[in-house]
Amino acid sequence: MNTADILLSNALIVTQDENRSILPNSSIVIKGNRIIAIGPSMEIDPQYSASKTVDLRGKIVFPGLINTHDHLFQVATKGLGEDMSVQDWVYVVTAPTAANISSDEMYTVCLTGCLELIHCGVTSLIDMNYMAQTFAHHDENIHALVDSGLRSIYTSIISDYGLQYGIPEYLMRPTDWFIDQYDQLITKYPPTDRLAVWMAVGAPWTVSGEGLDKSLAFSKRTGTPMVMHIGENWVDNHCSKDRFGMNSVPYLEKIGFLRPELLAIHCVTLDDEDIALFVKNNVKVSYNPVSNMYLGNGIPPMMKMRDAGLRIGLGVDGAGSNNSQDMIETLKMAALLQKGAAKDPSVINAQQVLDWATLGGAQILGLEDQIGSLEVGKQADLFVIAPNSAKVVPIHDPVATLVYSCGQENVEMTIANGVILMQDGIIQHLDEAEILRQCQEMSLALAERCGSDSKVKRTWKGNRA
Ligand SMILES: [Zn+2]
Repeated sequence: MNTADILLSNALIVTQDENRSILPNSSIVIKGNRIIAIGPSMEIDPQYSASKTVDLRGKIVFPGLINTHDHLFQVATKGLGEDMSVQDWVYVVTAPTAANISSDEMYTVCLTGCLELIHCGVTSLIDMNYMAQTFAHHDENIHALVDSGLRSIYTSIISDYGLQYGIPEYLMRPTDWFIDQYDQLITKYPPTDRLAVWMAVGAPWTVSGEGLDKSLAFSKRTGTPMVMHIGENWVDNHCSKDRFGMNSVPYLEKIGFLRPELLAIHCVTLDDEDIALFVKNNVKVSYNPVSNMYLGNGIPPMMKMRDAGLRIGLGVDGAGSNNSQDMIETLKMAALLQKGAAKDPSVINAQQVLDWATLGGAQILGLEDQIGSLEVGKQADLFVIAPNSAKVVPIHDPVATLVYSCGQENVEMTIANGVILMQDGIIQHLDEAEILRQCQEMSLALAERCGSDSKVKRTWKGNRA
């Protein structure tokens, strides 16, 4: 008899392997952080003695979801930013929050965001901090990522420009200051299975030409991948024409910015020429449908990008432009937004959405040989759906159930890196109730302190515990 750590038995397993195999009455065996066996329970179970066995009869196992874009600290701003343009929203809500948040608050609100992601079956994410006022802000954001148990990429925005477009001066520093921060970050946090630091360049309209050049040089010299908001709304091209006489994507191509090591966030305003340049340079794309709708930015041409062969992942974006971190909701919105835009329900199906949220995300992280599907040798990142509410019953097609019917309440178990982070809907390694209590209190105090609630006409004074 072989020994193992976890045996998940009698499940319906959506593997996301090359054939998109769905295995009934099957088991997954985990040892350390790896999947060491997968197959029919009748064959697998007698071969293994596991420290922990979980009977998943009637339940569905999926590969962990991969959230390719977030600003976890914005959890503090839920409910403050509705009905504003991006520029107003940055100026009124997110910038003051980023500038005034303490490192303790950073830890708690980021961890709260991670808790919701775990409740959604997310096992990996790319987070983007704004302006870290002290190095402790980086540290506490990273501590939250590590303590959450999620596989994480940490980034922090470089911004040295954009006063005339609404970026407050207090969020800017000379590019050299940011580069020095990144030098320290990649030294202090060398890449591991669980955590890596990448670079974030805010957007074409928040970085100077010199800033773009210096950031690119550092990225190339150190082999650090980059993320950047590109074409989030009309402002991108407007400002680029203003400054450089051409749209932002052709300009970025001209200066050598478009490369396989670049993840472009949003891409709402991309035209055919832009998409061709992305294809030519193998740029990766993060699709954030809820945020795009929330901020009234428009509908990214995902079907064109998919048909052109670009690598695509899904993101929830920060809670400031979403009001939650609900990756399950994002799956449904990702499909419906494209169907509605095309006036054609056949342009995208549930399988495509799941592919983006798993295999596509894994490609974006550069971990396609490690995560994104449930196969022997891969890392044990997965979640379990239970038919425990009227919302999902009956289940005819597990993939359609996940994308169109599920809510967070149906996610019963989440395992990342071989560790059970949630079981029976209960977070295993953190005191969730206490973290939520602290997040509520801290977020109200922060909003009052920095004025990020100035456009919210409160008739009450918050719900202090
Ligand atoms: Zn963003």
